[in-house]
Amino acid sequence: MTYYKRKIISGPTVNDHGYEIVYVEEEETGLKYTTPYHRFVWEEHYQKKIPEGFVIHHKDGNKVNNKVENLQVMTRSAHSKHHDLLRRRKKMLAKRRRLRRTRRSRDVSGRE
Ligand SMILES: [Zn+2]
Repeated sequence: MTYYKRKIISGPTVNDHGYEIVYVEEEETGLKYTTPYHRFVWEEHYQKKIPEGFVIHHKDGNKVNNKVENLQVMTRSAHSKHHDLLRRRKKMLAKRRRLRRTRRSRDVSGRE
């Protein structure tokens, strides 16, 4: 597939979902549209379109850290699995912290 050279007309600006978006123009076709900045950065770096069914993941979890080193292309299903795992791990850690806090307050009072 041909990769069309694009220039940023405006942006990036942060949208309601916390993602940066840019308004771009394809130089050869004159086509103008908005696109998520992380997708634009990845595509510009690799000079190709993100394949159908693939998404860009922010490795550090920061949606506005759109340096190419922070961006990882993943299949949609691998991506949602990855985020499920992160969510579960976060929940588990929060639970463990709660337990530790309960134990500590019992130690202080000296009784169960
Ligand atoms: Zn992600």
